[in-house]
Amino acid sequence: MRLENKVAIITGAGSGIGRMTALLFAKEGANVVVADVNEKGGMEVVSEIKKNGSDAFFAKLDVTRREQSKQMVQDALEKFGRIDILINNAGIIQDALVTKMTEEQWDNVINVNLKGAFNCIQAVVEVMIKQGNGAIINTASIVGLFGNVGQTNYAATKAGLIGMTKTLAKELGKKGIRVNAVAPGFIMTPMTSNVPEKILELMREKTPLRRLGEAEDVAYAYLFLASDEAKFVNGAVLCVDGGLII
Ligand code: NAP
Repeated sequence: MRLENKVAIITGAGSGIGRMTALLFAKEGANVVVADVNEKGGMEVVSEIKKNGSDAFFAKLDVTRREQSKQMVQDALEKFGRIDILINNAGIIQDALVTKMTEEQWDNVINVNLKGAFNCIQAVVEVMIKQGNGAIINTASIVGLFGNVGQTNYAATKAGLIGMTKTLAKELGKKGIRVNAVAPGFIMTPMTSNVPEKILELMREKTPLRRLGEAEDVAYAYLFLASDEAKFVNGAVLCVDGGLII
């Protein structure tokens, strides 16, 4: 097993990519903290993990609330004794053309996607420094590298996460903590479930692999970066997009 006895916090683990990651990590031997605002989804993931014989607990977490991130870390330490992996996967979209985007849409997306990751990193980093090791993975997007019409707020957060990843890779490397980012392309999850079939077809055509991504595709990228197999990978941005942006 690739994550035997490791403890992983996964935010946004009640749905989509985070859900698939929690299940995969548990299968690979990790104890998982399923952290999400979505209590129903999160609890379902925990019971599925337990049914398969691994250990997990649900942490009700709104990543924008710093005190909740701190509490989650305390609870994880009480339950599992250490924290090896943090995946800042929670994210939202609130799209609009820049002429129409409200201040609220801007603030909401910045707060969840960017500040939320910062909150969780600050809550966990002292623990990892004391341990002398840890792996942090931030969920960016190809939109953070190339932009996308209607996503000024979202693209800014994902580009911001890439900047944070590289900075923290420099800052924390000497403490034994690796920080990397994954940049998914178009992945079929509840987040993308309202996209019209015409656009989906266009995306398929533009992708050299001629298909859209599945949550599992991203989960396996997280798995590699979280595992000891990636012990010399730090500050990287791994695109998981079927070649869409080449
Ligand atoms: P998803 O299915 O919507 O899952 C996101 C999860 O995060 C949901 O359970 C959501 O809860 C939760 N969440 C929302 N706000 C939160 C908060 N404040 N605190 C804690 N949890 C919160 O989306 P996904 O497609 O799996 O996306 C996962 C990550 O991949 C996101 O960061 C996204 O930006 C990134 N990504 C996705 C794609 C794609 O094509 N799907 C592409 C590039 C990057 P609710 O359901 O209650 O809102």
